[in-house]
Amino acid sequence: MSDSSPRPRVTVAHGDGIGPEIMGATLRVLEAARAELELDEIQIGEQVYLSGNTSGIAPEAWDALRRSRVFLKAPITTPRGGGYKSLNVTTRKTLGLFANVRPCVSYSPFVMTRHPGMDVVIVRENEEDTYAGIEHRQTQEVTQCLKLISRPGSERCIRYAFEYARRAERRKITCLTKDNIMKITDGLFRRVFQEVAEEYPDIETEELIIDIGTAWLADAPERFDVVVTPNLYGDIVSDVTAQLSGSVGLCGSANIGAEFAMFEAIHGSAPDIAGRDIANPSGLLLGAVMMLVHVGRNEVATRVHNAWLKTIEDGVHTGDVYREGMSGERVGTQAFADAVIGRLGDEPRRLNKVHYQEVAGGRVGFDTEPRPQPQQVKRLVGVDVFLDWDESGRDAGALAGRLESAAAGVPLKLEVITNRGVKVWPGGLPETFCSDHWRCRFYPKGEGQPVRHEDVAALLGHLATAGLDFIKTEHLYTFDGEVGYALAQGQ
Ligand code: NAD
Repeated sequence: MSDSSPRPRVTVAHGDGIGPEIMGATLRVLEAARAELELDEIQIGEQVYLSGNTSGIAPEAWDALRRSRVFLKAPITTPRGGGYKSLNVTTRKTLGLFANVRPCVSYSPFVMTRHPGMDVVIVRENEEDTYAGIEHRQTQEVTQCLKLISRPGSERCIRYAFEYARRAERRKITCLTKDNIMKITDGLFRRVFQEVAEEYPDIETEELIIDIGTAWLADAPERFDVVVTPNLYGDIVSDVTAQLSGSVGLCGSANIGAEFAMFEAIHGSAPDIAGRDIANPSGLLLGAVMMLVHVGRNEVATRVHNAWLKTIEDGVHTGDVYREGMSGERVGTQAFADAVIGRLGDEPRRLNKVHYQEVAGGRVGFDTEPRPQPQQVKRLVGVDVFLDWDESGRDAGALAGRLESAAAGVPLKLEVITNRGVKVWPGGLPETFCSDHWRCRFYPKGEGQPVRHEDVAALLGHLATAGLDFIKTEHLYTFDGEVGYALAQGQ
């Protein structure tokens, strides 16, 4: 699509808190730049939640999104507790927005930052991980959140990161995971990274553990280029990186899927400063610039971004980045937008000016279908039964005795008991604190014997008869002989 093509349709939501102010400012800049978009407005967020719709979005809003496939969204407030689902998470997952792209750039010496050379793009996996929101309270004492990492989800996001890096002429991608601890979930993400990397020999790769990776990112962000990481780490790391650039108010983000795309600021609805005309609209404006590139309005995107850079360079700053002696003029949200509008057509003199070309767009220009995988042979080799148990002074030996006698009639035998992941039977240590949540691992009585679902069901029946409260099971599988579960500590 070229800049002369018909008006691209965009669905717009004004959001909550500072949302309406920064969206108003952003839309004024787009209009002045003659972006010529067909805007459909929808209601989402707090009002919709409080009207009794716990998803925060009305059913007809999805129709508007289906029509436009492009969403410019101001931040919204998710009411805490009360069963309200985060609309941000719902939108990303419903629309299949698998990659969240967050460029974080320093604008030194015009915006105060300790890292003048920083130009990092965080690509965050956007649909999975602990963000699946599958949480349970299982016992009086213990809660859990399921961390789901899939091969297709990881592959789409990681391939997008490589495609993005290539199109944006970036040299290196760093993968951040915690696979030294979460060997199966984060291990899969890292393995997929290594596989996809082989398709892109022109791009340098690096793999770091998230903790030291974040420390280095905070200390020397200029050594990073593109970073790809699972959802939760990406959330944290991108806020850290955005703040390093001078303010969370400076960064925009693109949520990319095969069919849909959503553009926003990375920050939230900032209720503490709402309604005061002091919020920085830059994050949403830069999100809108990514949207313009996505819909093929490259020339407009270039003009708006360069005018924005010139505004920053001229020292016209909102309160979050204003520094006495460094900034020239402290302005509010709307005056900042006016300053950008007044500079449309100008280019920065010292900051790097931008020039968006068709190919640099955020549109998915590659096959996002995960590559086919050979079918593997899956075998059930055991079961973990989780129990809520608070008797006999929480003595693991006593629990083992009860389990062994309850399981006497089934072809499964108790192998190990752990409590919060630590082995407590056989051979536990008296110092280990035990909660009321026990993982009891059963293997077949005859070594190498197959385990059937009927055996597991029979075991659970016997446990119920013995008055043992099983709260969940996890089946232990091998895939082509490779163990698909973490061994218990000391096993
Ligand atoms: P926040 O990002 O809204 O605010 C954090 C801090 O940064 C606040 O001090 C705020 O004043 C400041 N800040 C944020 N944006 C700014 C801007 N543009 N200009 C100047 N200062 C700015 O985070 P929070 O306070 O943790 O969350 C508030 C609400 O936003 C919550 O309901 C949360 O669920 C929601 N939230 C929404 C999104 C989204 O819609 N994408 C993202 C994150 C949080």
